[in-house]
Amino acid sequence: MREIPGAWRRTARGAGLMSADGVASPTIFAEMSALAARSGAINLGQGFPDEDGPAEVLEAARQAISDGMNQYPPGRGHPDLLEAVAEHRARFDGVALDPGTEIIATAGATEGLAAALLALIDSPEDEIVVFEPYYDAYAALVALAGARLVTVPLRWPDFQPDLDELAAAVGDRTRVILVNDPHNPTGTVFTREVLQHVVALAERHDAIIVTDEVYEHLVLEGERTVVQTLPGARERTIAISSAGKTFATTGWKIGWATGPADLIDAAMTVKQYLTYVNGGPFQPAIAAGLRLPDSFFHGIADTLRRKRDLLGEGLAAAGFAVSTPAGSYFTVADAAPLGARDADDFCRELPDRAGVVAVPLTAFVTDARRPDYATLVRFAACKREDVIRDAGGRLAAMI
Ligand SMILES: *Cc1c(COP(=O)(O)O)cnc(C)c1O
Repeated sequence: MREIPGAWRRTARGAGLMSADGVASPTIFAEMSALAARSGAINLGQGFPDEDGPAEVLEAARQAISDGMNQYPPGRGHPDLLEAVAEHRARFDGVALDPGTEIIATAGATEGLAAALLALIDSPEDEIVVFEPYYDAYAALVALAGARLVTVPLRWPDFQPDLDELAAAVGDRTRVILVNDPHNPTGTVFTREVLQHVVALAERHDAIIVTDEVYEHLVLEGERTVVQTLPGARERTIAISSAGKTFATTGWKIGWATGPADLIDAAMTVKQYLTYVNGGPFQPAIAAGLRLPDSFFHGIADTLRRKRDLLGEGLAAAGFAVSTPAGSYFTVADAAPLGARDADDFCRELPDRAGVVAVPLTAFVTDARRPDYATLVRFAACKREDVIRDAGGRLAAMI
């Protein structure tokens, strides 16, 4: 039989996502959500909203189904969605895009990330630089693509990277610098200076920048810097976003990738063999969402800011040390003042002790760096205010 070099790396087992005998390792999220379901605890673990998004968007999807838009949309995406993404990025980010060549629709941000990484990685020596803690799919995708993950730590309480550590992580083997901003799980929004360094390093080492901007409209403090607008960035950046977090439609899995035509074509080449297409009637519905007035987008940030404040007050009253996230759904709190030594154990006990589920930050880090995040816990603020208030009360009464 012909040997296929490297093929083993592209199996779940080879990537370390399964044990040697083929058993899938359960994620901490699965374990915590099962705990929540079993114990009836309030789930502040997983980041999905517990309320519907804008009625116009939901209605547009119903209408599209009624109108018979139920077959495969075009491979690059429904033209109306591609147009709407271009308008939206011009309106909010000052980025001019050609909807015919510089945008593709993807099955959520996740497929955009997978397509970009699979398209750009071609050797097991290739290095992908990510900030740590990181969204858990990054490490899995890099492993499945058969490349090396190189991490730059973000430290409590502001979670901005050290610029020397960033520079040290990027070298001539760096294929991609992957930047999630606003950042999950820490809630940080990178300073302009950090992002300028990312661009300078990418230029120096001829790396591609992939951004994950799914929280683009959930900036709660200050302003975010749009990487593609920084000098030198436009021609080497694939920006990935999604409707899920903005419109509270995480189950629809409508995302998009934007960038120069050659990079988008490369991602498209992979994307067409991952899902080919997805979400026929949801694509025009998200187009309608992207065209909502500015007030909608400011409104969702204002609402989340109130929820973040409520969550932070509840956590502080319960005795946690609390960081103030500048963006995203999440707040990180330190359980050390409550006597915790290990956030994994703390989170496993939390449903019984308080009736609340949260996720340890160690779920988002490499083994070597677990000690640096040992007592930090991530709480999701994207829940109804009465739910957050209830959770705060339960935590304050914790036994
Ligand atoms: C939720 C999330 C995603 C996944 O987005 P989908 O559109 O559901 O695929 C990607 N990146 C980050 C940082 C997220 O929080």
